[in-house]
Amino acid sequence: MKRNILNYTLPELELIVKELKEEKYRAKQIFTPLHQKHISHFKDIKSIPLAFRKKLSENFYIGSLSSLLISDSKKYNTKKFLFILPISDTKNNEEKLKIETVLISEKGRHTICISTQVGCNVGCEFCATGKMGLKRNLETSEIISQVYEVVKATGLAPTNLVYMGMGEPFLNYKNLIKSLTIFTSKDGLNISSRRITVSTIGLKNKIKIFADDLSKKENQSLRNIKVAFSLHSTDNGIRESIIPTSAYNKLSDIYEELTYYYKKLRTKITYEYIYFNGINNSDDDIKRLERLSKMVPCNFNIIPFHPIDFHLNKPLDVFNKLDKGKIDERNEISLLNLGLNDFIAKLKSKKIIVNLRSSSGVDINAACGQLAVIN
Ligand code: SF4
Repeated sequence: MKRNILNYTLPELELIVKELKEEKYRAKQIFTPLHQKHISHFKDIKSIPLAFRKKLSENFYIGSLSSLLISDSKKYNTKKFLFILPISDTKNNEEKLKIETVLISEKGRHTICISTQVGCNVGCEFCATGKMGLKRNLETSEIISQVYEVVKATGLAPTNLVYMGMGEPFLNYKNLIKSLTIFTSKDGLNISSRRITVSTIGLKNKIKIFADDLSKKENQSLRNIKVAFSLHSTDNGIRESIIPTSAYNKLSDIYEELTYYYKKLRTKITYEYIYFNGINNSDDDIKRLERLSKMVPCNFNIIPFHPIDFHLNKPLDVFNKLDKGKIDERNEISLLNLGLNDFIAKLKSKKIIVNLRSSSGVDINAACGQLAVIN
């Protein structure tokens, strides 16, 4: 059976080339056009002999994603891509699986928000992806092709990559690492690890393992990757009610792992904090956030709560009450986020480094927490 060549890192490709009885340097001659020029046919690799190209096409294919739809935001410089996957659901071969990827262009940056899973089984109450359940993990090729297809469709080179799309990246760990290795390889996409952020909901031991892996000599190119921890509440009880898996991943353990990450890699930690008015914005919350801000060098991204087309359960059920027929999405965001500016001002007064994340793409359901594909 033919294999998708986009699934392999350069060291893996070197082994493959050896198996095919070719010289090691040939691997680079294949890898670079695949990941820098995003070629679709082996015949486009002119630097290798015809006989080797033939051998490659007998054993491999270049399997990218097909773009089904590109939604353009009318209010923000944001595009959402709907991709169909080349491989169907393993349980149900008839089902064509789809994923979403977002390109946000602002202040001279082009940030691509990448998905790592089709759906997600963490089930966060505020997240449309979580409401889909998990279909399957994405292959390495399916993770990297999201970026390549966005580049092909827009002609824009990404300045930043964020693993904040559909899925929990640490639940697809092997392919997360492989995709990061390809992106940061100087013979691959060649993007600096300083420009990559991996977001996680916080799963026991995973941040520690990630820190250890990034510190390995062979992973030098990954060293400066940032971790963004989706905190959303400093209270274990509240966190459990909105993030079901946090019952097994207590905040004290995650804080310990984040400290370990900082000490090992000297990379600032980012905390993601969706503002839930009346739920995580009390004076006690602010006190706890202040204490946390002193633990290791860090910054806080405060994210407005974005509406999703699903019924919300406790404690977020209070946000179901908005009469959506009567308000446009901008008003809806401000109604959902009453007191947000005041909350940010209070955090800043405590010398906490705070950024307000924009709601780019909210009109096309491309903002934080809104990605979902109902197949
Ligand atoms: S927020 Fe992340 S971890 Fe939670 S359900 Fe959504 S995709 Fe999964």
